[in-house]
Amino acid sequence: MTISTVENKLAIDCQKINLLGLSPEKLGKFFKDMGEKPFRATQVLKWIHQIGVDDFDQMTNLAKDLREKMKSIAEIKAPEIVSYHESKDGTCKWIIRVKGGDCVEAVFIPEKDRGTLCISSQVGCALDCSFCATGKQGFSRDLDAFEIIGQLWIAVKAFNSFGEKANRVVSNVVMMGMGEPLLNFDNVIDSMGLMLNDNAYGLSKRRVTLSTSGIVPMIDKLAEVSDVSLAISLHAPNDKLRDQLVPINKKYPISSLLASAQRYLDKMPDVRRKITIEYTLMDHINDRDEHARELAILLNKLPCKINLIPFNPFDQSDYRRVTKTALYRFRDILKNAGHTVTVRTTRGDDISAACGQLAGTVRDKTRRSERHINKHQQQPIKFVMS
Ligand code: SF4
Repeated sequence: MTISTVENKLAIDCQKINLLGLSPEKLGKFFKDMGEKPFRATQVLKWIHQIGVDDFDQMTNLAKDLREKMKSIAEIKAPEIVSYHESKDGTCKWIIRVKGGDCVEAVFIPEKDRGTLCISSQVGCALDCSFCATGKQGFSRDLDAFEIIGQLWIAVKAFNSFGEKANRVVSNVVMMGMGEPLLNFDNVIDSMGLMLNDNAYGLSKRRVTLSTSGIVPMIDKLAEVSDVSLAISLHAPNDKLRDQLVPINKKYPISSLLASAQRYLDKMPDVRRKITIEYTLMDHINDRDEHARELAILLNKLPCKINLIPFNPFDQSDYRRVTKTALYRFRDILKNAGHTVTVRTTRGDDISAACGQLAGTVRDKTRRSERHINKHQQQPIKFVMS
């Protein structure tokens, strides 16, 4: 596309191109189509993602006429921050309005040795895991790439940590917020490309984690194009129980999921890489000793570390948090079986920012949220057991 075709496209769309979400390759093509040299893409990437500039006039190493040309056809626009919340434990949450008026949430968790930003990939989620607040909201749409990377841009800007070190710099990103990232594949890949690119955020592949509920063919596709860290939301040691907690399991059962996780590792040049297994523990649901023993055997052959997450209750949830006794017994059974196990500390639950609590505002196209509300009004809570 030449500059005149770019302008023609704009005339048809009446919409400027938002450069914030363009991958390095797409930004390169944007400048090529304008008849500019490829290094312009590198310059603009740095202005946007390393210096935090959203005004072409501040890009002083670009000629004035080029800046004027860019202003007429493009923009750099992050999604709008609706509100910002800070927990007493230092966790921060942004509610962010995206195109069309829906809202998603991004959460920053500061720790001694790192600062982790948990970002969303979809408005709501179509997969309806029974313990997840996002799932109960139903599904509206996939986020565009600028709305995904925009969450990181917003956080880095908020901490004034573009360029130089800041107190609360974002060192890690987890695609663990609202939505199933592998069902918004292209936009997630473009966004992660920016996270990893040295002319943008320059994060190490070990510090960018994609968490999936188990879309098996897409895990294989991910292995073709990326080597970020992979986390699997398992939550159950057998198909009978997982079918109830994570309904996508009926389509991609545990054996096929773990096989795809192993194939993902097999593609990595570094043999020390491991999969993270996430296991949310719910009282009297999946926290019994036999579940721990079954899980230990199930994961025997997969190079992995297991992250135990005490369930965080929310409105309309059918489950209760695991007791401390059951949590530590569960952990010890896994450890004694030779597994590496961590327990995720609950953070930010006073601002509904803890794991599994993100809800945003979703104009649900599935009518699932309505069904969940009706169900709660009409029925006593039932607990599943396996
Ligand atoms: S746990 Fe993840 S995949 Fe499941 S409903 Fe929630 S956001 Fe979707």
